[in-house]
Amino acid sequence: MFGTGLLKGLGVTLKHFVETFTDDRAEVPSRYRGSLDLDDKHRIIHQPVDEEGLFTIQYPEEKRLLPERFRYIPMLIWDTEKGEDRCTACGICAKVCPPQCIWIVRDSDENGKPITRPAEFYIDAAVCMSCSFCAEFCPFDAIKMDHDYELAVYERYPQLVYDLDELTVPVEYYAALWPTQYAAEEERRRKEEAEKAAKQAAKAKAAAAKAKAKPAGEKKQRSPEEIAELKRKAQERAAAAKKKAAGGGGDDAAKKARMEELKRKAMERAKKRQSGE
Ligand code: SF4
Ligand code: SF4
Repeated sequence: MFGTGLLKGLGVTLKHFVETFTDDRAEVPSRYRGSLDLDDKHRIIHQPVDEEGLFTIQYPEEKRLLPERFRYIPMLIWDTEKGEDRCTACGICAKVCPPQCIWIVRDSDENGKPITRPAEFYIDAAVCMSCSFCAEFCPFDAIKMDHDYELAVYERYPQLVYDLDELTVPVEYYAALWPTQYAAEEERRRKEEAEKAAKQAAKAKAAAAKAKAKPAGEKKQRSPEEIAELKRKAQERAAAAKKKAAGGGGDDAAKKARMEELKRKAMERAKKRQSGE
């Protein structure tokens, strides 16, 4: 029938309209259920997956609770336990960053020798495309993605070029934003450290066993007198070899003369046989 689709569409709109009210009134489910009051005016609210009706957030008084894997601008992790940056200034993140918005200057000691920490670290937030490549490629879990998206400023430069201080956050901040990922990383780290410790213990054990077994087959230690005697013999051998080399022409002449003598005798024998003697 003409107009059926139109009526169906209007029906859907009406359903959403009614559900928008009944949802919040009846609290089945409500977007405010489990919401988090920041203060009198601000709250973080959930958007339940089974929520019906239109979903409107009164921003900025209300903000959505962001999912863990939400990502915006990178942050650098400060290891509070060790009291140092996790970043080693290896530069991998800067290499893989597609729009090339990371700059790193490696720190150096008083002799000018490079050391594994950044002296300067900049990210141009106006260029960053929130791809998270830097976080995925970092071998030290030193750079992660922050959830903070309220970054509006009046001047792009220098306000949107974040430096080391602005980018650095304590590891607890990261753990609160990314609880599942943080737990998985810590678990992996614990396993790796346990494996490393086990390997080192096995290596130490093998070295100790080798050291214990060594005395029986150990190379004999020579006394200074023995060494002097060996040296003397080696010198004698060297002198004899030298002498032989120098007299090598005489040996050759003697050999030649002997060969001539043998040849002469062989000729004589041959002549005697021919004459039938
Ligand atoms: S953040 Fe990671 S990848 Fe980037 S320089 Fe530091 S350690 Fe290397
Ligand atoms: S998130 Fe992507 S664009 Fe932004 S700094 Fe990291 S690699 Fe570069």
